[in-house]
Order: sequence, then C-alpha cells, then structure tokens
Amino acid sequence: MINYSNINGHLVPAGEASLKVSDLSVIRGFAIFDFFLFRQGHPLFLDDYLDRFYRSAELLHMAVPFSKAGFARQILQLIEHNGQEEGGIRLLLTGGYSPDGYTPAEPNVLILQSPLPAKTWQSSQGIKLMTHTFLREIPEVKTTNYVTGISLLPELQRRGFDDLLFVENGEWIRESARSNFFLVLDGQRVVTPGTKVLLGVTRKQILHLAGKRYQVEERDVHISEVAEAREAFFTSTIKGVLPVVQVGDQVVGDGKSGPVAAQLYRDFIAHVEAYLEEQSRKAQPLMEV
Ligand SMILES: *Cc1c(COP(=O)(O)O)cnc(C)c1O
Repeated sequence: MINYSNINGHLVPAGEASLKVSDLSVIRGFAIFDFFLFRQGHPLFLDDYLDRFYRSAELLHMAVPFSKAGFARQILQLIEHNGQEEGGIRLLLTGGYSPDGYTPAEPNVLILQSPLPAKTWQSSQGIKLMTHTFLREIPEVKTTNYVTGISLLPELQRRGFDDLLFVENGEWIRESARSNFFLVLDGQRVVTPGTKVLLGVTRKQILHLAGKRYQVEERDVHISEVAEAREAFFTSTIKGVLPVVQVGDQVVGDGKSGPVAAQLYRDFIAHVEAYLEEQSRKAQPLMEV
C-alpha cells in the first residue's frame, strides 16, 4: 500500500493528494515532471534525475522552491514513510494557480510514489516502430505534454506497431515519445542523436557503459542509416535497454535482437547492482569497534 504523497513539502494521505483545477497544468498543460525508480529503498541515479528536473524548470523559467538537497531529503522521507522496497517516484512542478489562467503563479510541487511498473527492464525479442514526422517542442525539457504520442496510439495499434519514432522533417531521427533511440553500425559503433532530444538518464548510463566496449557517437542520425544498421534499441527508465527490430517498413539487421543490445542490457543490470551496493554502504556507516 502506498499511503502518502508529498504536496508542496507536506506529507499527505495519498488518496487526498490534490490540486485545485485552476492550476496551469490543467488549464494550459504547463508543467514539468520527472520519473525514476527506487530499489532496496534507494533511488537509482537520483542526482542525475534531480539535475534534469531543475534544468527543465530553469529552461521554462520556473523555480523549484527547494534546494536539491532539501528536495532529495523529502523524496527519501516519502519512500521511508511508505515502507516499500521498490517502486517509482514521479516529481511534478506545475504552473500554479494562475489568476488570469495564463500567467504562471507560485508553482506546485508534487512527489508521488507508485508501484514498480510490471514491465520494468523486461527482456524482449524486439519491437517495431512506426515513424512519425515530428520534433518535440523544447526537446530538452521533460514536460507533461505527450499529446502527439498519445493521440497516435490508435494508429499504432491499427497498423501493428509497438511504439513510435519521431523523425524531424522526415529525415533526422530524434527519439520516441518516452525513449531515446540508438543504432549499432558495423557491430562496433553505437550511435545516438546528440541534440534536439530529451537527454535521458538511461541514455547517459548506456553511453558511459557503451564507451567501455565500443566506439560511441553522439551526432545527428539520418533515417537512411537504419538500412545499414546491424541493430537498434531504445533506452528509458522503465525499458532499460529494449531491442528494436523494425523501423517503418525497414527491417533492422537480420530482424532479430542483437548481441550489442544484449551486452549493454547485462552491463546496465550490473551497473545498477554496483550502484545499489555503493548506496547501501554509504547508508550504513562502519560501526565503531
Ligand atoms: C523520459 C523521456 C525519455 C527517457 O529518459 P530516461 O531518463 O532514460 O527515462 C526520452 N524521451 C522523452 C521524450 C522522455 O520524456
């Protein structure tokens, strides 16, 4: 049972967590958020997620009314009060109760806990992507606006695709609605778009891990490169590393999930385990003898 949420710095019963309808998030869709997992009671890569959350706020000229350290303490306090070992945490910063329904007011801050999503880091034989000509608005900001992705769900289902790939001007691959995209060229080069994407925290971990084994390139990626690729995959907080076997009509490589994605998936799991070990060492200072 998740009993508590945190609204504007106060623990409240989760069932009573609410905002007034005049909030700009409701009226104009003006809000940012972030989402991360915790395991064994420890948030994974918390500093990276907090950095991104504060960066998203800054780019929209919003102010988080807490220091990063103070915000981190509230997150840990919420996890402790709810008493679960693992789960997800959603942070939200909204435009506030605007007097004229347009101008931002004092922001509202929400910390909401959820159970660990059932699909977290599931291994997969590979998914098929429907391409869509689109570039997210202010791509570096994690806003709550998923209008394009959500409105395309019926078409995805009708055409038998699993997810989307946004392609700027029909030429430059960017990302999906909720995931970053990678190609593997020559079986040795791991390539991902370097700009005009949400800089995923999983993307950052995978770039770091891939750099130890392969050549890594962050640069513009043209849609025509899919035809030359051996493999493709998605990264995200929930998906971890997820193989992609088809982009539009183009089958990727031999149409099966490949060794590089599988290797990076294993490296990611090991990296998380090492991170958790370090966190629990820090949380339990050596007893004095
Ligand atoms: C959240 C998100 C991602 C993935 O980022 P992670 O930090 O790895 O979860 C990628 N693209 C968009 C548009 C996103 O909202």
